[in-house]
Amino acid sequence: MTTTGGNPIADNQNSKTSGPRGPLALEDYQLIEKLAHQNRERIPERTVHAKGSGAYGKLTITNDITQYTKAAIFSQVGKETECLLRFSTVAGERGAADAERDVRGWALKFYTEEGNWDMVGNNTPVFFVRDPLKFPDFIHTQKRHPKTNMRSATAMWDFWSLSPESLHQVTILMSDRGLPKSYRHTNGYGSHTYSFINAKNERFWVKFHFKTRQGIETMTNQEGEQVIAKDRESSQKDLFENIEKGNFPQWDFKIQVMTEDQAEACPFNPFDLTKVWPHGDYPLIDVGVLELNRNPENYFQEIEQSAFSPSNIVPGISFSPDKMLQARIFSYADAHRYRLGTWYEALPVNQPKSAVNHYHLDGAMNFLEPKSSDAYYEPNSMGGASDDERFAEPPLKHTGPLDRYDHREGNDDYTQPGNLFRLMNDDQKQQLCDNIAEAMQGVPQEIIERQLVHFDRADAAYGAGVRESLKRLAGDDVNNISVQEEPLPDPATA
Ligand code: NDP
Repeated sequence: MTTTGGNPIADNQNSKTSGPRGPLALEDYQLIEKLAHQNRERIPERTVHAKGSGAYGKLTITNDITQYTKAAIFSQVGKETECLLRFSTVAGERGAADAERDVRGWALKFYTEEGNWDMVGNNTPVFFVRDPLKFPDFIHTQKRHPKTNMRSATAMWDFWSLSPESLHQVTILMSDRGLPKSYRHTNGYGSHTYSFINAKNERFWVKFHFKTRQGIETMTNQEGEQVIAKDRESSQKDLFENIEKGNFPQWDFKIQVMTEDQAEACPFNPFDLTKVWPHGDYPLIDVGVLELNRNPENYFQEIEQSAFSPSNIVPGISFSPDKMLQARIFSYADAHRYRLGTWYEALPVNQPKSAVNHYHLDGAMNFLEPKSSDAYYEPNSMGGASDDERFAEPPLKHTGPLDRYDHREGNDDYTQPGNLFRLMNDDQKQQLCDNIAEAMQGVPQEIIERQLVHFDRADAAYGAGVRESLKRLAGDDVNNISVQEEPLPDPATA
Protein backbone atom coordinates (compact mmCIF):
# COMPACT_ATOMS: atom_id res chain seq x y z
CA MET A 1 0.00 0.00 0.00
CA THR A 2 1.29 3.47 -0.84
CA THR A 3 0.29 7.13 -0.68
CA THR A 4 -0.91 8.66 -3.95
CA GLY A 5 2.69 9.84 -4.30
CA GLY A 6 3.77 6.21 -4.35
CA ASN A 7 5.44 6.11 -0.92
CA PRO A 8 5.01 2.93 1.12
CA ILE A 9 2.54 3.09 4.03
CA ALA A 10 3.57 1.47 7.30
CA ASP A 11 0.33 1.86 9.28
CA ASN A 12 -3.14 2.33 7.84
CA GLN A 13 -4.93 1.69 11.15
CA ASN A 14 -3.72 4.40 13.54
CA SER A 15 -3.42 8.19 13.13
CA LYS A 16 -0.18 9.87 14.23
CA THR A 17 -0.75 11.51 17.63
CA SER A 18 1.22 13.10 20.43
CA GLY A 19 0.73 10.37 23.00
CA PRO A 20 -1.93 7.68 22.79
CA ARG A 21 -4.77 10.11 23.68
CA GLY A 22 -3.94 12.70 20.98
CA PRO A 23 -3.95 15.38 19.70
CA LEU A 24 -3.27 14.72 16.02
CA ALA A 25 -0.12 15.81 14.23
CA LEU A 26 -0.58 18.05 11.17
CA GLU A 27 2.23 16.13 9.53
CA ASP A 28 0.02 13.02 9.31
CA TYR A 29 -0.32 13.58 5.59
CA GLN A 30 -1.69 10.10 5.19
CA LEU A 31 -4.76 11.01 7.29
CA ILE A 32 -5.11 14.46 5.73
CA GLU A 33 -4.92 13.04 2.21
CA LYS A 34 -7.61 10.50 3.04
CA LEU A 35 -10.03 13.10 4.45
CA ALA A 36 -9.31 15.63 1.72
CA HIS A 37 -9.84 13.05 -0.97
CA GLN A 38 -13.11 11.93 0.54
CA ASN A 39 -14.36 15.53 0.42
CA ARG A 40 -13.78 15.41 -3.31
CA GLU A 41 -15.30 12.01 -4.10
CA ARG A 42 -18.47 13.42 -5.65
CA ILE A 43 -18.61 15.30 -8.92
CA PRO A 44 -21.59 17.37 -10.03
CA GLU A 45 -24.38 15.02 -11.00
CA ARG A 46 -25.92 15.38 -14.42
CA THR A 47 -28.67 18.05 -14.44
CA VAL A 48 -30.84 15.51 -16.26
CA HIS A 49 -30.35 11.73 -16.56
CA ALA A 50 -28.43 11.64 -13.25
CA LYS A 51 -29.44 8.08 -12.30
CA GLY A 52 -28.04 5.57 -14.75
CA SER A 53 -26.73 2.08 -15.45
CA GLY A 54 -24.43 0.98 -18.22
CA ALA A 55 -22.65 -1.88 -19.91
CA TYR A 56 -20.38 -2.61 -22.84
CA GLY A 57 -21.30 -4.65 -25.88
CA LYS A 58 -21.05 -4.85 -29.63
CA LEU A 59 -23.00 -3.94 -32.73
CA THR A 60 -22.96 -6.62 -35.44
CA ILE A 61 -24.02 -5.60 -38.93
CA THR A 62 -26.46 -8.05 -40.56
CA ASN A 63 -27.66 -6.05 -43.57
CA ASP A 64 -25.91 -3.92 -46.20
CA ILE A 65 -26.93 -0.24 -45.97
CA THR A 66 -23.87 1.16 -47.79
CA GLN A 67 -26.16 2.68 -50.44
CA TYR A 68 -27.11 5.22 -47.75
CA THR A 69 -23.92 5.72 -45.77
CA LYS A 70 -20.18 5.38 -46.11
CA ALA A 71 -19.67 5.14 -42.33
CA ALA A 72 -17.06 2.45 -41.63
CA ILE A 73 -19.22 0.96 -38.86
CA PHE A 74 -21.68 -0.18 -41.56
CA SER A 75 -19.07 -1.06 -44.21
CA GLN A 76 -19.70 -4.80 -44.33
CA VAL A 77 -22.10 -7.45 -43.16
CA GLY A 78 -20.64 -9.30 -40.18
CA LYS A 79 -18.63 -6.31 -38.97
CA GLU A 80 -18.52 -5.89 -35.19
CA THR A 81 -17.97 -2.61 -33.32
CA GLU A 82 -17.51 -2.25 -29.57
CA CYS A 83 -19.93 0.04 -27.80
CA LEU A 84 -21.04 1.37 -24.42
CA LEU A 85 -24.71 1.88 -23.57
CA ARG A 86 -25.81 3.99 -20.60
CA PHE A 87 -29.49 3.82 -19.63
CA SER A 88 -31.00 6.33 -17.25
CA THR A 89 -34.08 7.94 -15.85
CA VAL A 90 -34.43 11.66 -16.53
CA ALA A 91 -35.84 13.61 -13.61
CA GLY A 92 -34.58 11.82 -10.49
CA GLU A 93 -31.29 12.57 -8.80
CA ARG A 94 -28.42 10.06 -8.56
CA GLY A 95 -30.05 8.29 -5.64
CA ALA A 96 -33.53 8.12 -7.20
CA ALA A 97 -35.35 4.81 -7.47
CA ASP A 98 -35.19 3.07 -10.85
CA ALA A 99 -38.82 1.92 -11.03
CA GLU A 100 -40.31 5.37 -11.54
CA ARG A 101 -42.60 6.55 -14.33
CA ASP A 102 -40.20 8.51 -16.50
CA VAL A 103 -38.56 8.51 -19.91
CA ARG A 104 -35.48 6.23 -20.07
CA GLY A 105 -32.27 7.63 -21.54
CA TRP A 106 -30.53 5.47 -24.15
CA ALA A 107 -27.00 6.84 -24.67
CA LEU A 108 -24.74 4.84 -26.98
CA LYS A 109 -21.08 5.29 -27.76
CA PHE A 110 -19.72 3.29 -30.68
CA TYR A 111 -15.91 3.10 -30.67
CA THR A 112 -15.44 3.05 -34.48
CA GLU A 113 -12.14 3.15 -36.37
CA GLU A 114 -13.14 6.65 -37.57
CA GLY A 115 -13.66 7.99 -34.05
CA ASN A 116 -16.55 7.79 -31.62
CA TRP A 117 -20.11 7.88 -32.84
CA ASP A 118 -22.50 8.78 -30.00
CA MET A 119 -26.22 8.22 -30.42
CA VAL A 120 -27.76 9.92 -27.41
CA GLY A 121 -31.42 8.93 -27.47
CA ASN A 122 -34.32 7.82 -25.32
CA ASN A 123 -36.75 4.91 -25.10
CA THR A 124 -39.27 7.17 -26.84
CA PRO A 125 -39.24 8.26 -30.49
CA VAL A 126 -40.35 11.85 -29.70
CA PHE A 127 -39.83 14.53 -27.06
CA PHE A 128 -41.87 17.05 -24.99
CA VAL A 129 -40.63 20.20 -26.76
CA ARG A 130 -39.48 21.00 -30.26
CA ASP A 131 -37.67 24.29 -29.62
CA PRO A 132 -34.57 24.18 -27.39
CA LEU A 133 -35.46 27.60 -26.00
CA LYS A 134 -38.10 25.73 -23.99
CA PHE A 135 -35.84 22.90 -22.77
CA PRO A 136 -34.60 24.45 -19.48
CA ASP A 137 -38.16 25.62 -18.70
CA PHE A 138 -39.49 22.12 -19.30
CA ILE A 139 -36.82 20.48 -17.15
CA HIS A 140 -37.50 22.89 -14.29
CA THR A 141 -41.09 21.56 -14.20
CA GLN A 142 -39.76 18.01 -13.79
CA LYS A 143 -37.33 18.88 -11.00
CA ARG A 144 -38.01 20.21 -7.51
CA HIS A 145 -40.06 23.32 -6.71
CA PRO A 146 -37.63 26.04 -5.53
CA LYS A 147 -39.60 26.67 -2.31
CA THR A 148 -41.11 23.32 -1.31
CA ASN A 149 -38.14 21.28 -2.61
CA MET A 150 -40.72 18.75 -3.82
CA ARG A 151 -41.74 17.65 -7.31
CA SER A 152 -44.78 19.60 -8.50
CA ALA A 153 -47.61 17.99 -10.50
CA THR A 154 -49.06 21.48 -10.94
CA ALA A 155 -45.90 22.74 -12.65
CA MET A 156 -45.79 19.70 -14.95
CA TRP A 157 -49.41 19.94 -16.11
CA ASP A 158 -49.32 23.72 -16.27
CA PHE A 159 -46.38 23.61 -18.65
CA TRP A 160 -47.75 20.68 -20.69
CA SER A 161 -51.22 22.20 -20.99
CA LEU A 162 -49.65 25.43 -22.28
CA SER A 163 -47.38 23.50 -24.69
CA PRO A 164 -49.55 21.35 -26.95
CA GLU A 165 -46.47 19.97 -28.73
CA SER A 166 -45.84 17.93 -25.55
CA LEU A 167 -49.01 15.84 -25.97
CA HIS A 168 -47.35 13.06 -28.01
CA GLN A 169 -44.60 12.45 -25.45
CA VAL A 170 -47.00 12.93 -22.51
CA THR A 171 -49.17 10.18 -24.02
CA ILE A 172 -46.19 7.81 -24.21
CA LEU A 173 -45.02 8.73 -20.70
CA MET A 174 -48.46 8.09 -19.20
CA SER A 175 -49.01 4.90 -21.23
CA ASP A 176 -47.97 1.42 -20.10
CA ARG A 177 -44.53 2.04 -21.66
CA GLY A 178 -43.91 5.00 -19.35
CA LEU A 179 -42.92 2.57 -16.58
CA PRO A 180 -40.70 -0.18 -18.07
CA LYS A 181 -40.05 -3.36 -16.09
CA SER A 182 -36.32 -2.95 -16.72
CA TYR A 183 -33.95 -1.31 -19.16
CA ARG A 184 -33.68 -4.61 -21.04
CA HIS A 185 -37.39 -4.40 -21.82
CA THR A 186 -37.28 -1.04 -23.60
CA ASN A 187 -36.82 -0.02 -27.21
CA GLY A 188 -34.25 2.68 -27.97
CA TYR A 189 -34.70 5.54 -30.42
CA GLY A 190 -32.28 8.11 -31.80
CA SER A 191 -35.43 10.30 -31.77
CA HIS A 192 -33.90 13.12 -33.83
CA THR A 193 -33.60 13.02 -37.57
CA TYR A 194 -29.94 12.60 -38.51
CA SER A 195 -28.31 12.40 -41.92
CA PHE A 196 -26.44 9.68 -43.76
CA ILE A 197 -23.93 10.49 -46.50
CA ASN A 198 -22.89 7.77 -48.93
CA ALA A 199 -19.71 7.23 -50.95
CA LYS A 200 -21.17 9.30 -53.81
CA ASN A 201 -21.60 12.17 -51.32
CA GLU A 202 -25.41 11.91 -51.48
CA ARG A 203 -27.37 12.84 -48.33
CA PHE A 204 -30.31 10.91 -46.84
CA TRP A 205 -32.29 11.73 -43.72
CA VAL A 206 -32.38 8.88 -41.20
CA LYS A 207 -34.01 7.81 -37.92
CA PHE A 208 -32.51 5.14 -35.64
CA HIS A 209 -34.52 2.43 -33.85
CA PHE A 210 -33.41 -0.34 -31.47
CA LYS A 211 -36.15 -2.94 -30.90
CA THR A 212 -35.81 -5.05 -27.80
CA ARG A 213 -35.48 -8.82 -28.30
CA GLN A 214 -36.49 -9.28 -24.64
CA GLY A 215 -39.98 -7.98 -25.48
CA ILE A 216 -41.64 -4.86 -24.14
CA GLU A 217 -42.53 -5.44 -20.48
CA THR A 218 -44.03 -2.78 -18.28
CA MET A 219 -45.34 -2.21 -14.76
CA THR A 220 -48.42 -0.54 -13.40
CA ASN A 221 -47.91 2.29 -10.91
CA GLN A 222 -48.87 -0.10 -8.10
CA GLU A 223 -46.32 -2.70 -9.27
CA GLY A 224 -43.69 0.01 -9.50
CA GLU A 225 -44.44 1.15 -5.94
CA GLN A 226 -44.03 -2.41 -4.66
CA VAL A 227 -40.66 -2.73 -6.41
CA ILE A 228 -39.42 0.60 -5.03
CA ALA A 229 -40.46 -0.34 -1.50
CA LYS A 230 -38.01 -3.23 -1.61
CA ASP A 231 -35.40 -2.21 -4.17
CA ARG A 232 -34.43 1.23 -5.43
CA GLU A 233 -31.86 -0.23 -7.86
CA SER A 234 -34.17 -2.65 -9.69
CA SER A 235 -33.02 -1.75 -13.22
CA GLN A 236 -29.34 -1.66 -12.25
CA LYS A 237 -29.72 -5.08 -10.60
CA ASP A 238 -31.58 -6.54 -13.56
CA LEU A 239 -29.01 -5.34 -16.08
CA PHE A 240 -25.94 -6.19 -14.01
CA GLU A 241 -27.10 -9.65 -12.95
CA ASN A 242 -28.31 -10.72 -16.38
CA ILE A 243 -25.02 -9.75 -17.99
CA GLU A 244 -23.07 -11.37 -15.12
CA LYS A 245 -24.80 -14.70 -15.69
CA GLY A 246 -24.35 -14.58 -19.47
CA ASN A 247 -27.94 -13.71 -20.38
CA PHE A 248 -26.88 -10.96 -22.76
CA PRO A 249 -29.67 -8.55 -23.78
CA GLN A 250 -30.05 -7.86 -27.49
CA TRP A 251 -31.80 -5.34 -29.69
CA ASP A 252 -32.50 -5.31 -33.45
CA PHE A 253 -31.02 -2.14 -34.92
CA LYS A 254 -33.18 -0.66 -37.69
CA ILE A 255 -33.37 2.61 -39.58
CA GLN A 256 -35.94 4.66 -41.46
CA VAL A 257 -34.69 6.60 -44.47
CA MET A 258 -36.10 9.67 -46.22
CA THR A 259 -34.61 11.27 -49.33
CA GLU A 260 -34.05 15.02 -49.48
CA ASP A 261 -36.85 15.26 -52.07
CA GLN A 262 -39.22 13.29 -49.84
CA ALA A 263 -38.43 15.66 -46.97
CA GLU A 264 -39.38 18.66 -49.14
CA ALA A 265 -42.75 17.02 -49.91
CA CYS A 266 -43.41 15.63 -46.41
CA PRO A 267 -46.75 16.95 -45.06
CA PHE A 268 -45.18 17.58 -41.64
CA ASN A 269 -41.76 18.90 -40.67
CA PRO A 270 -39.56 15.77 -40.70
CA PHE A 271 -37.08 17.57 -38.41
CA ASP A 272 -39.66 18.14 -35.67
CA LEU A 273 -38.72 16.12 -32.56
CA THR A 274 -42.36 15.82 -31.50
CA LYS A 275 -43.22 13.77 -34.62
CA VAL A 276 -42.47 10.22 -35.76
CA TRP A 277 -42.16 9.11 -39.35
CA PRO A 278 -45.06 6.68 -39.88
CA HIS A 279 -43.77 3.17 -40.57
CA GLY A 280 -46.25 2.76 -43.43
CA ASP A 281 -44.58 5.61 -45.35
CA TYR A 282 -41.00 5.06 -44.15
CA PRO A 283 -40.58 1.34 -43.46
CA LEU A 284 -38.01 0.02 -41.01
CA ILE A 285 -34.84 -1.29 -42.66
CA ASP A 286 -32.73 -3.92 -40.86
CA VAL A 287 -29.18 -2.95 -39.96
CA GLY A 288 -27.84 -5.24 -37.26
CA VAL A 289 -27.95 -6.58 -33.73
CA LEU A 290 -26.83 -4.75 -30.60
CA GLU A 291 -25.75 -6.92 -27.68
CA LEU A 292 -24.62 -5.97 -24.17
CA ASN A 293 -22.17 -8.53 -22.81
CA ARG A 294 -19.76 -6.93 -20.32
CA ASN A 295 -20.29 -5.09 -17.06
CA PRO A 296 -18.00 -2.21 -16.17
CA GLU A 297 -15.35 -2.99 -13.55
CA ASN A 298 -15.76 0.37 -11.83
CA TYR A 299 -19.11 2.14 -11.94
CA PHE A 300 -17.77 5.63 -11.24
CA GLN A 301 -14.91 5.49 -13.73
CA GLU A 302 -16.80 3.92 -16.58
CA ILE A 303 -20.45 4.95 -16.18
CA GLU A 304 -20.54 8.09 -14.02
CA GLN A 305 -17.59 9.50 -15.98
CA SER A 306 -18.90 8.35 -19.35
CA ALA A 307 -19.77 11.35 -21.50
CA PHE A 308 -21.99 11.11 -24.55
CA SER A 309 -22.59 13.92 -27.01
CA PRO A 310 -24.54 14.17 -30.26
CA SER A 311 -21.59 16.24 -31.52
CA ASN A 312 -19.62 12.98 -31.86
CA ILE A 313 -20.32 11.95 -35.43
CA VAL A 314 -18.23 10.04 -37.96
CA PRO A 315 -17.84 10.38 -41.75
CA GLY A 316 -21.11 9.15 -43.30
CA ILE A 317 -23.30 10.14 -40.32
CA SER A 318 -24.22 13.74 -39.61
CA PHE A 319 -26.72 16.25 -38.27
CA SER A 320 -30.02 17.64 -39.54
CA PRO A 321 -31.82 20.98 -39.16
CA ASP A 322 -33.74 19.62 -36.10
CA LYS A 323 -33.53 22.58 -33.69
CA MET A 324 -33.37 20.34 -30.63
CA LEU A 325 -30.50 18.34 -32.11
CA GLN A 326 -28.66 21.53 -33.02
CA ALA A 327 -28.88 22.74 -29.42
CA ARG A 328 -27.80 19.39 -27.99
CA ILE A 329 -24.72 19.41 -30.24
CA PHE A 330 -23.57 22.36 -28.11
CA SER A 331 -25.06 21.66 -24.73
CA TYR A 332 -23.98 18.05 -24.16
CA ALA A 333 -20.27 18.66 -24.72
CA ASP A 334 -20.58 21.83 -22.66
CA ALA A 335 -22.23 19.93 -19.79
CA HIS A 336 -19.35 17.45 -19.76
CA ARG A 337 -16.74 20.21 -19.67
CA TYR A 338 -18.47 21.53 -16.55
CA ARG A 339 -19.12 18.13 -14.96
CA LEU A 340 -15.88 16.32 -15.80
CA GLY A 341 -13.45 18.99 -16.99
CA THR A 342 -11.85 20.21 -20.18
CA TRP A 343 -10.21 16.89 -21.00
CA TYR A 344 -13.25 14.67 -20.41
CA GLU A 345 -12.75 12.90 -23.73
CA ALA A 346 -9.29 11.77 -22.67
CA LEU A 347 -10.75 9.64 -19.85
CA PRO A 348 -10.36 5.96 -20.79
CA VAL A 349 -14.09 5.29 -21.16
CA ASN A 350 -14.52 8.27 -23.48
CA GLN A 351 -11.28 7.92 -25.42
CA PRO A 352 -11.69 6.96 -29.07
CA LYS A 353 -9.95 3.75 -30.13
CA SER A 354 -8.73 5.58 -33.25
CA ALA A 355 -5.93 8.14 -33.45
CA VAL A 356 -6.72 11.60 -32.05
CA ASN A 357 -4.90 14.57 -33.60
CA HIS A 358 -5.81 18.12 -32.69
CA TYR A 359 -4.16 21.35 -31.57
CA HIS A 360 -5.87 22.02 -28.23
CA LEU A 361 -3.22 22.80 -25.63
CA ASP A 362 -2.92 22.69 -21.85
CA GLY A 363 -5.94 23.02 -19.55
CA ALA A 364 -6.61 21.33 -16.22
CA MET A 365 -5.72 17.63 -16.03
CA ASN A 366 -4.18 17.34 -19.47
CA PHE A 367 -2.60 13.91 -19.18
CA LEU A 368 -2.29 13.06 -22.87
CA GLU A 369 1.14 12.13 -24.17
CA PRO A 370 2.98 15.12 -25.64
CA LYS A 371 2.76 15.42 -29.41
CA SER A 372 5.58 16.38 -31.73
CA SER A 373 7.01 19.42 -29.96
CA ASP A 374 7.26 21.77 -32.94
CA ALA A 375 3.85 21.16 -34.54
CA TYR A 376 1.75 22.87 -31.88
CA TYR A 377 -0.16 25.23 -34.23
CA GLU A 378 -1.82 24.77 -37.59
CA PRO A 379 -1.00 25.24 -40.47
CA ASN A 380 2.61 24.21 -39.91
CA SER A 381 5.48 22.81 -41.93
CA MET A 382 6.56 20.52 -39.09
CA GLY A 383 4.70 17.43 -40.21
CA GLY A 384 1.65 17.99 -37.96
CA ALA A 385 -1.84 16.70 -38.71
CA SER A 386 -3.93 18.68 -41.16
CA ASP A 387 -7.51 18.81 -42.40
CA ASP A 388 -8.63 16.65 -45.33
CA GLU A 389 -11.27 17.88 -47.76
CA ARG A 390 -12.31 14.31 -48.59
CA PHE A 391 -14.40 14.44 -45.42
CA ALA A 392 -16.40 17.52 -46.49
CA GLU A 393 -20.16 17.03 -46.50
CA PRO A 394 -22.36 18.02 -49.44
CA PRO A 395 -23.75 21.55 -48.98
CA LEU A 396 -27.17 21.74 -47.33
CA LYS A 397 -29.73 24.15 -48.74
CA HIS A 398 -31.33 26.51 -46.22
CA THR A 399 -34.23 28.77 -46.97
CA GLY A 400 -35.87 31.67 -45.25
CA PRO A 401 -34.77 34.89 -43.54
CA LEU A 402 -33.35 34.79 -40.01
CA ASP A 403 -36.18 35.32 -37.53
CA ARG A 404 -37.91 33.81 -34.49
CA TYR A 405 -40.62 31.65 -36.09
CA ASP A 406 -43.65 30.57 -34.07
CA HIS A 407 -43.07 26.82 -33.88
CA ARG A 408 -46.72 26.21 -32.93
CA GLU A 409 -48.27 28.07 -35.85
CA GLY A 410 -49.98 25.67 -38.25
CA ASN A 411 -48.47 22.66 -36.49
CA ASP A 412 -50.69 19.60 -36.02
CA ASP A 413 -49.97 18.44 -32.47
CA TYR A 414 -52.92 16.08 -32.30
CA THR A 415 -52.98 13.54 -35.16
CA GLN A 416 -49.94 11.50 -34.10
CA PRO A 417 -50.87 11.31 -30.38
CA GLY A 418 -54.35 10.34 -31.56
CA ASN A 419 -52.85 7.60 -33.77
CA LEU A 420 -50.95 6.29 -30.77
CA PHE A 421 -54.10 6.29 -28.62
CA ARG A 422 -56.05 4.48 -31.35
CA LEU A 423 -53.46 1.68 -31.68
CA MET A 424 -53.64 0.88 -27.96
CA ASN A 425 -55.84 -2.01 -26.84
CA ASP A 426 -58.59 -1.42 -24.25
CA ASP A 427 -56.36 -2.34 -21.33
CA GLN A 428 -53.61 0.06 -22.50
CA LYS A 429 -56.15 2.86 -22.98
CA GLN A 430 -57.45 2.26 -19.47
CA GLN A 431 -53.95 2.32 -18.00
CA LEU A 432 -53.19 5.54 -19.90
CA CYS A 433 -56.30 7.33 -18.64
CA ASP A 434 -55.87 6.07 -15.07
CA ASN A 435 -52.19 7.06 -14.99
CA ILE A 436 -53.04 10.56 -16.20
CA ALA A 437 -55.83 10.97 -13.65
CA GLU A 438 -53.52 9.79 -10.88
CA ALA A 439 -50.75 12.16 -11.99
CA MET A 440 -53.24 15.07 -12.01
CA GLN A 441 -54.20 14.73 -8.35
CA GLY A 442 -53.90 18.08 -6.59
CA VAL A 443 -53.55 20.05 -9.81
CA PRO A 444 -55.78 23.17 -10.03
CA GLN A 445 -59.00 22.61 -11.96
CA GLU A 446 -58.23 25.34 -14.50
CA ILE A 447 -55.06 23.51 -15.58
CA ILE A 448 -56.83 20.13 -15.77
CA GLU A 449 -59.53 21.68 -17.98
CA ARG A 450 -56.92 23.17 -20.30
CA GLN A 451 -55.18 19.79 -20.65
CA LEU A 452 -58.45 17.88 -21.23
CA VAL A 453 -59.01 19.94 -24.36
CA HIS A 454 -55.76 18.57 -25.80
CA PHE A 455 -56.85 14.98 -25.12
CA ASP A 456 -60.21 15.73 -26.78
CA ARG A 457 -58.48 17.09 -29.83
CA ALA A 458 -56.30 13.99 -30.18
CA ASP A 459 -59.31 11.68 -29.88
CA ALA A 460 -62.71 12.29 -28.28
CA ALA A 461 -62.44 8.88 -26.58
CA TYR A 462 -59.09 9.91 -25.08
CA GLY A 463 -60.58 12.98 -23.39
CA ALA A 464 -63.67 11.04 -22.31
CA GLY A 465 -61.51 8.24 -20.86
CA VAL A 466 -59.42 10.65 -18.77
CA ARG A 467 -62.62 12.32 -17.46
CA GLU A 468 -63.99 8.91 -16.46
CA SER A 469 -60.77 8.06 -14.62
CA LEU A 470 -60.76 11.45 -12.89
CA LYS A 471 -64.34 10.90 -11.79
CA ARG A 472 -63.58 7.42 -10.48
CA LEU A 473 -60.61 8.70 -8.49
CA ALA A 474 -62.70 11.53 -7.07
CA GLY A 475 -65.20 8.93 -5.83
CA ASP A 476 -68.50 10.47 -4.74
CA ASP A 477 -67.03 13.92 -4.73
CA VAL A 478 -67.72 14.40 -8.45
CA ASN A 479 -68.32 18.10 -7.96
CA ASN A 480 -64.56 18.45 -7.72
CA ILE A 481 -64.21 17.40 -11.33
CA SER A 482 -65.91 19.44 -13.99
CA VAL A 483 -66.90 17.20 -16.85
CA GLN A 484 -67.02 18.63 -20.31
CA GLU A 485 -69.71 16.46 -21.93
CA GLU A 486 -69.21 17.83 -25.45
CA PRO A 487 -65.58 17.53 -26.51
CA LEU A 488 -64.20 20.43 -28.52
CA PRO A 489 -64.06 19.79 -32.28
CA ASP A 490 -60.77 18.64 -33.75
CA PRO A 491 -59.12 21.76 -35.22
CA ALA A 492 -58.06 19.74 -38.25
CA THR A 493 -61.67 18.95 -39.21
CA ALA A 494 -63.57 21.85 -37.65
P1 NDP B 1 -47.29 1.44 -36.52
O1 NDP B 1 -48.51 0.68 -36.13
O2 NDP B 1 -46.52 1.02 -37.71
O3 NDP B 1 -46.28 1.50 -35.30
C1 NDP B 1 -46.74 1.68 -34.00
C2 NDP B 1 -45.56 1.87 -33.12
O4 NDP B 1 -46.02 2.22 -31.84
C3 NDP B 1 -44.68 0.65 -32.94
O5 NDP B 1 -43.35 1.07 -33.15
C4 NDP B 1 -44.89 0.24 -31.49
O6 NDP B 1 -43.70 -0.26 -30.96
C5 NDP B 1 -45.23 1.56 -30.87
N1 NDP B 1 -46.04 1.54 -29.67
C6 NDP B 1 -47.06 0.76 -29.32
N2 NDP B 1 -47.54 1.10 -28.11
C7 NDP B 1 -46.81 2.15 -27.70
C8 NDP B 1 -46.80 2.96 -26.54
N3 NDP B 1 -47.66 2.78 -25.55
N4 NDP B 1 -45.88 3.94 -26.46
C9 NDP B 1 -45.00 4.15 -27.45
N5 NDP B 1 -44.96 3.42 -28.57
C10 NDP B 1 -45.85 2.44 -28.68
O7 NDP B 1 -47.79 2.94 -36.63
P2 NDP B 1 -47.14 4.30 -37.17
O8 NDP B 1 -45.73 4.20 -37.59
O9 NDP B 1 -48.08 4.85 -38.16
O10 NDP B 1 -47.21 5.17 -35.86
C11 NDP B 1 -48.44 5.29 -35.12
C12 NDP B 1 -48.09 5.83 -33.77
O11 NDP B 1 -47.23 4.90 -33.13
C13 NDP B 1 -47.31 7.13 -33.84
O12 NDP B 1 -48.14 8.26 -33.89
C14 NDP B 1 -46.48 7.07 -32.60
O13 NDP B 1 -47.18 7.62 -31.52
C15 NDP B 1 -46.29 5.57 -32.33
N6 NDP B 1 -44.92 5.16 -32.65
C16 NDP B 1 -44.45 5.27 -33.93
C17 NDP B 1 -43.13 5.03 -34.20
C18 NDP B 1 -42.57 5.29 -35.54
O14 NDP B 1 -41.34 5.45 -35.63
N7 NDP B 1 -43.36 5.32 -36.60
C19 NDP B 1 -42.21 4.55 -33.15
C20 NDP B 1 -42.84 4.36 -31.86
C21 NDP B 1 -44.15 4.70 -31.64
P3 NDP B 1 -43.36 -1.84 -31.01
O15 NDP B 1 -43.21 -2.18 -32.46
O16 NDP B 1 -42.09 -1.98 -30.26
O17 NDP B 1 -44.51 -2.53 -30.34
